[in-house]
This record gives sequence, structure tokens and C-alpha cells, in this order.
Amino acid sequence: MEEGEHKINSKLVKMVKRIFRGAVSTCKEELACYAYDASLESSNPDLVAYPQDAEQIANLMDLAQREGFPVVPRGAGTGLSGGSVPLRGGVIVSLQKMNRIREIDCKNCLAIVEAGVVTGNLQEIVWKKGMFYPPDPGSAQVCTIGGNIAENAGGPRALKYGVTRDYLLGLEIVTPTGDIIRTGGKTLKNVTGYDLTRFMAGSEGTLGIVTQATVKLLPSPRSAGTLMLTFSDLDKAAHTVCNIISGGVLPTTLEFMDNLTIRCVEDYLHAGLPLDAAAILLVEVDGRKEVVDMDLEEICTLAKINGAVSVRRAVNQEERDLLWRARRSVSASLSRIKPAKISEDATVPRSRIPDLVRSLHDIARRYELRVAVFGHAGDGNLHPNFLVDIRDQEEMKRLKKAVEELFQVALELDGTLSGEHGIGYTKASFLENEIGASGIKFLSSLKRAVDPAGVLNPGKIFK
Ligand SMILES: Cc1cc2nc3c(=O)[nH]c(=O)nc-3n(C[C@H](O)[C@H](O)[C@H](O)COP(=O)(O)OP(=O)(O)OC[C@H]3O[C@@H](n4cnc5c(N)ncnc54)[C@H](O)[C@@H]3O)c2cc1C
Repeated sequence: MEEGEHKINSKLVKMVKRIFRGAVSTCKEELACYAYDASLESSNPDLVAYPQDAEQIANLMDLAQREGFPVVPRGAGTGLSGGSVPLRGGVIVSLQKMNRIREIDCKNCLAIVEAGVVTGNLQEIVWKKGMFYPPDPGSAQVCTIGGNIAENAGGPRALKYGVTRDYLLGLEIVTPTGDIIRTGGKTLKNVTGYDLTRFMAGSEGTLGIVTQATVKLLPSPRSAGTLMLTFSDLDKAAHTVCNIISGGVLPTTLEFMDNLTIRCVEDYLHAGLPLDAAAILLVEVDGRKEVVDMDLEEICTLAKINGAVSVRRAVNQEERDLLWRARRSVSASLSRIKPAKISEDATVPRSRIPDLVRSLHDIARRYELRVAVFGHAGDGNLHPNFLVDIRDQEEMKRLKKAVEELFQVALELDGTLSGEHGIGYTKASFLENEIGASGIKFLSSLKRAVDPAGVLNPGKIFK
């Protein structure tokens, strides 16, 4: 399916309305709300449908294959790579009304949820029952489980607990050709047939529409402790990240903020962050209290050996909450500096973080851009945020070059284009640099096999 090839005519609109029993909108203002995600891309759909169940979506996919119009699944639209933007128009399938939690089974440590359940809601509800759903993207209060599966979302806790993929036991999926399939199930182990559950994790809405997921839960950790480590030197902070883990402590989270990030957050939140620091590390450990205390002690000693200028332990829940609120406020506080921020997520092996941070600041200096660097340093996943004004065309040209260089550097450092935001549309033209022409050929042959007419989320991952 080529760009701009299809427009949905009034006959098709009627057919789609029938499938969704009227739960469809063609209202211009409403469509405009579905033209965007959290990237800078935008394109209006022809209509938006609000399914109640998998069967309605299956009927839509069947019609789309026959008539050749695009269908784009959408959760909350917080994606950062243009994944849910309907580049070629067509039908947006908004999963937001399929948001029921169907079962919470504490004995077997699992939950069955519809794809539109908001991640933060699931976390909160299971927490009250003494259970824990670890994947915690920064957007958790808004984004959906379906979107998390499609992007294989991570977050600060990925260092210790892994990413969304690691919590999937089974899925209900509508295939691009309109079948409903169920993968996996309620068991922790399952090697029946190909591992389609994992196949869907990170498939960015191009291989099927997830309608329901069975997710693994853990017993909630008994206690937790937080540290803020302050450094006057970026390299020392970056080396400390490696040394903590190779020294034998695996924190729950190990987050990095550079000076610009610190200053923006402090200006916004007044949390007492050190304004003159080159970088801070926010570290959290969890588990039994004795172990938490021992781990925090070890980290403090190690940080001092590595040249930390100060080490602050949150002494109570209030202080802990404040430090994590500071981390969660990064996006909001950076947004006040310039009209737009471009959030990248090039990721490198942990030991290459010092090289990545140095290169990032060098790239920003050469292209005269402001960059704030923060992110999940424990797993090498930093988020350089370029702060720009999209009306300034000169600046946007420099940005484009800077981002290309950033991806190049990440690959040279044995890293990857994306640790968690996906390829979507924004990184599609760089994919070949990482996986080669034969990699693209293989991936596109898989896509063609499941979606022969190319109607499900066209223009994503592959250019
Ligand atoms: C402030 C902020 C902080 C963020 N922090 C993180 C972070 O820490 N970690 C992280 O990994 N990401 C983060 N993100 C990115 C984003 O929130 C995640 O990628 C999230 O998983 C997207 O979920 P969503 O429901 O908004 O999906 P959408 O943006 O609506 O869609 C994302 C992709 O998933 C597809 N999709 C959506 N639902 C389905 C479905 N049911 N079946 C099949 N495909 C589907 C869409 O077609 C699209 O390709 C952040 C974003 C913002 C704005």
C-alpha cells in the first residue's frame, strides 16, 4: 500500500459503522485528536472506531484486507516514534474503551486485562492486593497495556525487573487477516508452537492488534530505599553506574540526570537538587529491609570511592517520594525551556555510557543545540532530549544532522537505535544501518506473510 493511495468512501464508512454498531466518529475535531502521538509526526485518519470486543476488530480487518484501506491500532497515543499516527489515513482503532480488568489471580500471580487498561491503573489495583506489576514507563498514568506490548515498553525498573515482554504469559490477538488467535495462557512455562507472545512484543502494531493480555505479577517488595548521588564530573557518575552493578548490587533503578536536566527540574519542582552538579544518580533498591540497608551502604561506599561529592539517603517516605517526583517531572520541566523537545533513546552497553554522554554533549555543541541528558543509565538507555523550536527551520536542519550523528555514534558503541521507544516512522530510515539489508528483507517477509495486503499500520518500521 503506497502513501496517500486510499481514501475511505462513504460506502465503506457505512460498513465500518455497522461493524462497530455506530461507535465510530468522522467528526473533524475528533479526528484531529487522533492525528498525533508524542512525536512530531501528524496525519489525520478518515475515521476512528471504538471497539467493544475482538470480534468487531476481526470484522474490520477482514473488510480492510478486501478493500485495501489502512487500519492503525492506538492506545493512549504517548508513543514517541510516530507508531500510532495514521500516515496514510484510514481507520484508527482506539482500544481505550476496552479497558476492563477481567481477572486478578493472586494464587497464580497473574492478571487478565483488556488492551486498553491504563498501565498505572493495573499497577495500583494489584498493589492494593499485595502484588506488583513491574513495567513502569514514565507515561504509566496514561499509556495502555496494549501500547506497552506493541512497543515492549520499559522504564526505570527494567534494570532489575525487565521489560513488558518479560511479564507476558498469553495474548488474544486479532490478526491482520481478521482471525482471532490466543497465544500462551496462564502457565509460567509454555513451549507449545512458536513463541507468538514474544513475537508480538515490540511489533509496533504491524503484526496484529492485541485485544487482551494475561500478565505475570510478582509479590510486592517488602521495603525499598532511595539514594541521590551527586557528581561534579560526568565521567565519574557514568563509571559509578558500571561499578555498582559489577560490584555485586543490582538496584531496582539507577537513573541519571545531567546538569541541564537538574536545573530545569529544580526550577520547576524545588526539590533541593544540587544546581551545580555535573550529574546526579538516583538509585533505588528493594527487597527485605536488612538487604536493602546493606545494599544502600555498599552503594554509598562505592560512590564515595568513585568520587561522588555527596551522598543523600532519603530518610522517610516523603523524601523518597520527592526524589522520584523530581525524576518523573523531567519531561514536564524540560517542556518549559523551548516549544518542543525531541526525545531520543539510543542505547549502549552500560560500560559505554561515558562515551555516549561525552559524544552527546559534543554533538550538541557542534550543532549549537541544547540537549538535556537523562534516563535509565543502569541499562545503558539514556534519553537525550534536544530542546528546539520547530518554527526555526535552521535549527530543525541542525537537529536532523545531530540526530543522525547520535544514531551513528550509538551503533559504533555497539548500541542500538532504540532501547524502548521503537522504530515507528521516525527511525525507519535508519533501521538498515543496524540490521542490514538482509535483516530488512527477513523482517519484511514476516510482515508480508501475516499481512499480505499491507493494511495494518503501513509505513511503520519499514520505509
Ligand atoms: C512523558 C513520556 C514518558 C515516557 N516514558 C517511557 C518509558 O519510560 N519507557 C518506555 O518504554 N516508553 C516511554 N514512553 C513512550 C510511550 O509511553 C510507550 O511507548 C507506550 O508503550 C505507548 O503506549 P500507548 O498506549 O500510548 O500507545 P500508542 O502511542 O497509542 O501506540 C504505540 C504503538 O503501539 C501500537 N498499539 C497500540 N495499542 C495496540 C494494541 N492494542 N495492539 C497492537 N498495537 C497497538 C500503535 O499502533 C503504535 O504503533 C514515554 C512517553 C512519554 C510521552
